[in-house]
Amino acid sequence: MVDSQTVLILGGGVGGVATARALRKRLQRQHRVVLVDREPDHGFAPSLLWLMVGQRTADAITRPLARLARKGIDVRIGNIEHIDPVRRTATVAGAQLAADYLVITLGADLSPESIPGLAEAGHNFYTRRGAESLWTALRDLRAGRVVVLTAAPADKCPAAPYEGAMLIDGWFRKYGWRDAVTLEVYAAEPAPMGVAGPHVSSAVMQLLASKGIPYHPGHQVTAARCRPGAVRSLRRPRRLLH
Ligand SMILES: Cc1cc2nc3c(=O)[nH]c(=O)nc-3n(C[C@H](O)[C@H](O)[C@H](O)COP(=O)(O)OP(=O)(O)OC[C@H]3O[C@@H](n4cnc5c(N)ncnc54)[C@H](O)[C@@H]3O)c2cc1C
Repeated sequence: MVDSQTVLILGGGVGGVATARALRKRLQRQHRVVLVDREPDHGFAPSLLWLMVGQRTADAITRPLARLARKGIDVRIGNIEHIDPVRRTATVAGAQLAADYLVITLGADLSPESIPGLAEAGHNFYTRRGAESLWTALRDLRAGRVVVLTAAPADKCPAAPYEGAMLIDGWFRKYGWRDAVTLEVYAAEPAPMGVAGPHVSSAVMQLLASKGIPYHPGHQVTAARCRPGAVRSLRRPRRLLH
């Protein structure tokens, strides 16, 4: 019988949770599967788009990571401060965790601060808090200008800005306010969803056009600002960050 070994999975997002569950099923019980995340809850990012237009609540798209304990996965909550890939250790909230195998699934961090003014001027629906604040703003908007923009040519989800724009379009159509709202997409990338090839790019552009959403590719935002007197809602023409 092989001695007990430990797999340490750093990050409890989609990649980390899927890996932990798959390994737990395949590994014999004497082996440990340990998963670490700084957040106690796992939020399912693709559903942020529904949260943003009020089609889901935050609770419906979130599960406590601690539930994985039922499956025999050891969950630790804490900030990962250091990783030593040679010694296969990680420092979590000051404590060192050792592993026989390390899996690093820490995802990508957003850095809105790299564009001056962006965090203050826009809503970011790539986070739970941002999706919720956008929903609050959209609910109140009856007329104005909404700009969905991508702040970098590559991001966590190449489809989400376009999906987001079309969901916003759908929300205004449903309540009959679409004619009073100008909705546009400014993209840092040269075409939508380039990773999926030119046919998909062209299909997405046609969809946007069919919904009356002007598309401006190749536009890199360099700065954003709130209009004087504007509050952080969409009652006046505002900028949106996806
Ligand atoms: C709005 C939106 C819609 C999307 N739609 C789709 C879709 O329809 N289809 C699709 O395939 N993909 C979609 N994606 C992309 C998908 O969500 C990501 O590709 C996926 O989440 C990446 O998984 P990951 O495990 O690598 O990273 P993440 O899911 O980001 O997980 C990383 C985890 O690491 C944790 N972490 C990071 N740093 C530390 C630290 N120092 N200490 C402790 N913990 C840390 C974070 O808290 C997080 O839980 C979407 C993304 C967004 C934002």
